[in-house]
Amino acid sequence: MSNSLQLRDEILKLKAQKQVLLLAHYYEDGAIQDLADHVGDSLALAQWGARSEQQIVLLAGVTFMAESVKLLSPQKIVIAPDLNAGCSLVENSPYQKMLEWRLRHPQALMVTYVNSSAHVKAITDVCVTSSNAEKVLAAIPSDREILFGPDQNLGRYLMKKLNRPMQLWAGNCDVHLLFSARRLEQLRARYPKARVLAHPECDEGILRQADVVGSTSRLLQEVKENREVQQFIVATELGIFHQMRLARPDAELIQSPPEGSCACAECPYMKLNTLEKIRNSLRDLSPQIEIPFEVATQARTSLDRMMRITDGESVSWPEHFVDPRLPAEPPYRAERGLIPRFTLEA
Ligand code: SF4
Repeated sequence: MSNSLQLRDEILKLKAQKQVLLLAHYYEDGAIQDLADHVGDSLALAQWGARSEQQIVLLAGVTFMAESVKLLSPQKIVIAPDLNAGCSLVENSPYQKMLEWRLRHPQALMVTYVNSSAHVKAITDVCVTSSNAEKVLAAIPSDREILFGPDQNLGRYLMKKLNRPMQLWAGNCDVHLLFSARRLEQLRARYPKARVLAHPECDEGILRQADVVGSTSRLLQEVKENREVQQFIVATELGIFHQMRLARPDAELIQSPPEGSCACAECPYMKLNTLEKIRNSLRDLSPQIEIPFEVATQARTSLDRMMRITDGESVSWPEHFVDPRLPAEPPYRAERGLIPRFTLEA
């Protein structure tokens, strides 16, 4: 039996023995997606993690996603195959800097993309994902000033679409930033019938050329349901192609190219997860996600508000910000020399 088949068997056995819910993000390798109980975007993963009966959840994605599951289900054991699976947006939005920004605008409401640390969520009024951002922003009274971070491309896209001014934090996704608008134009000329799909973390030059801008779930839905189209140019991480191919083996899927010849359309953080690490995590129930109590209590409020608005409930908003004076944030992966760091200021 090949090594990967053996690992696959071990994972399925351990998962059944220990009754673990295995969740995988669309950007994981196809071999990992195939073993998961559910594959989805960050909103769907958080919902499945919170609503499942299983008391142990393994999340194959990046660490902030596993943290969201833990925040929403503090009584569950949440494990992640590699705690170094960060995210450039999390690295770009250190707590201390975000807090300083927040303190300069105490009357504003802070809306934070879920791609953020638990500490940053703890000084946030409401979180959003790329699936529910429009619905959440529409629930905020029109006279309230909004601070939006850490993804400036998503923020700029939402400002235009909803015609709503917001102050933006200057963070980016390393992966989506690198698609080339110039090369996409050339590709569209070669495939004039192709429909262009883009994630809102992409730069404006890409979004301007897209027929559909949306979360990974929305882009997948377009490929599944738009049967009249046979060619799709896709500007998001390569992992999503696995589900797209399964749904539409008849369609031609072309990735929007980066400038140059780098393999930058793959998220290096997501790809830290491997079958071997998943097997080890299930075997040892480790590493587990732990969040300091004070941080978790505050952070849960912003996620709860997001989930309630997503479910159609109404929520109340604080009049002004009060500094919760949290314990220091643990060192970033970048500070430990694991991931190169961008330097940013809002
Ligand atoms: S693709 Fe971008 S936003 Fe998503 S986890 Fe990777 S670095 Fe973060």
